[in-house]
Amino acid sequence: MRGSHPGSFEAAHALRDGSFPKAGTSPIDPGERYDLIVVGGGISGLAAAYFYRAAAGPAARILILDNHDDFGGHAKRNEFDFGGKIQLINGGTLGIESPRRYSAVAAGLLAALGIDPVVFQARHADRGFYPSLGLGPGVFFDKDTFGEDRLVKGKTSSPGVLEQAPLSNTARRDILRLETGQIDYLPGLSSSEMKARLSRISYRDYLLDLVKVDPSVIPFYQSRTHGEWGVGIDAVSALDVWPFGFPGFQGLQLDPGSAPHMGYTPAGYADGGSYEFHFPDGNATIARLLVRSLIPQAAPAGTVEDIVTERIDYGSLDRPDHMIRIRLGSLAVSVTSGEPASPATVEVVYLGKERFYTTRAKHCVLACWNMMIPYLCPQLPERQKEALRYLVKVPLVYTNVAVSNWQPFLTLGVSRIHCPGSFHSSVRLNPVTDIGSYRAPRSPGALILVQMVRTPCRPGLSERDQHRAGRAELLATGFATFEESIRDQLGRMLGPGGFNPARDITAITVNRWPHGYAYEYNPLFDPDWRKAEAPHEVGRARFGAIAIANSDSAAAVYTDAAIDQAHRAVQELLAG
Ligand SMILES: Cc1cc2nc3c(=O)[nH]c(=O)nc-3n(C[C@H](O)[C@H](O)[C@H](O)COP(=O)(O)OP(=O)(O)OC[C@H]3O[C@@H](n4cnc5c(N)ncnc54)[C@H](O)[C@@H]3O)c2cc1C
Repeated sequence: MRGSHPGSFEAAHALRDGSFPKAGTSPIDPGERYDLIVVGGGISGLAAAYFYRAAAGPAARILILDNHDDFGGHAKRNEFDFGGKIQLINGGTLGIESPRRYSAVAAGLLAALGIDPVVFQARHADRGFYPSLGLGPGVFFDKDTFGEDRLVKGKTSSPGVLEQAPLSNTARRDILRLETGQIDYLPGLSSSEMKARLSRISYRDYLLDLVKVDPSVIPFYQSRTHGEWGVGIDAVSALDVWPFGFPGFQGLQLDPGSAPHMGYTPAGYADGGSYEFHFPDGNATIARLLVRSLIPQAAPAGTVEDIVTERIDYGSLDRPDHMIRIRLGSLAVSVTSGEPASPATVEVVYLGKERFYTTRAKHCVLACWNMMIPYLCPQLPERQKEALRYLVKVPLVYTNVAVSNWQPFLTLGVSRIHCPGSFHSSVRLNPVTDIGSYRAPRSPGALILVQMVRTPCRPGLSERDQHRAGRAELLATGFATFEESIRDQLGRMLGPGGFNPARDITAITVNRWPHGYAYEYNPLFDPDWRKAEAPHEVGRARFGAIAIANSDSAAAVYTDAAIDQAHRAVQELLAG
């Protein structure tokens, strides 16, 4: 179990529940003093340290605290050691992508770290590899949802594919109409009137009430939105899915000129959206590059290509003789600053190795999760704490499975499979990226990593309540349940291709992200906030010597948002 691994969250839950030993009783003060303490060692926290040092100079003393046993926050990697040969895969965030163009600040940081996503995409990513072997998308229809287990190869909009699906003739007819028809389901409305209507209706209701598909069609699409939104089509607006290529809008002639929501470009990621490239371990490489920049002793100097296979010297992260220190396994429990008018210093109490410690700094950036902040800083204004609590993060699970060979995928002709009714709703072979001395496996007889994604949620509730329910489910789900479900799903899905879970699965890592994506507002459930009054804007106000970063404070789930917010927070502090 990685992600929120055992040992990382129990004390924080006790703090929430009020069952926490009084933090102030007798924290040890080793006398450490810093210019900046950062709470949260994700990309935002690491970037905050980077920007602070850039502005304050190399003499700035900085401490970064994180409650996990590794840095990076959601940007963590999984390493699988196959007899001395390491294969990498992302444990959490993968793509250097955003539906918006990267700001000058975020793009500038990537450039300063040596990352050129456009050049790297051309040089290191082999997206054509699986298609060159005839592998493509597929759908796994499971018995519990569709009456029989069947893997169907190909896109359902392609001729001949739907015929193989275990669906009624009515469902097939309606899916074909939905996916290929050029029908205007909102006749008489202008494009902007259509958009207003589509923003207030779920995609599910759009399909049922306006497209008028048979209800048996719904299970086929229900989990299509899981990967992006963490909930099914019952809780995502039709307008939000339109830019992402969902069917049913072809005949509406919607004006692509204006973005539907939160700055998303009308063409989804395809245009205006920034980059495609990702490292073999996802954005963990960005976190590792930041750490190497902050603490040069942590990894040998070198290029971006080198860092992918470099080992981090964890022993050098927290040394008294370094200007910047990263202290893992350390949960901040109290952060106190003077009032806004008289900031003075910040005192941070944290739980380290079974002891409380106190330390002080001139400034503090809270790059941790928004909902944690009211527990750390009860002195914040009530309105600000309420706003911080509003943003309920999205729970997700990225499960990485090592299999002894991928011949069954080759036999069945699939490299990525959507599984609308299964425990994990998507499965795919690790994409092929070669960089530095790292080489992705290319022989079907070789060990490979398979990524499966699960999004726990409860259809029918509001989006935020679905996230709460999903998180509770995750907390109560042990590894044995995951393992059983993985073996069952892969066996039933790939069995016809010769896959035998008992023989072919060699390792499983479950990355739990109960506090995953930042909450982005949902037009179905959230009001239209007035400018500067949205919860993330109210919640991120500076308080004395404390400023607030993290992608939560942008209400946006992307790397660029985490970096931009770090920059803003540091600017606020240094403005005086
Ligand atoms: C599964 C998953 C996939 C994603 N995929 C992508 C993607 O492909 N592309 C993309 O751009 N974005 C993706 N994201 C979004 C990702 O959240 C952001 O891009 C970014 O990495 C967030 O960084 P952050 O530093 O703001 O927050 P985090 O990475 O969440 O870091 C915050 C850190 O603060 C720590 N913390 C919290 N409270 C305390 C405390 N009291 N004391 C000490 N430490 C504390 C947390 O444990 C955590 O380690 C994904 C997210 C998830 C969960």
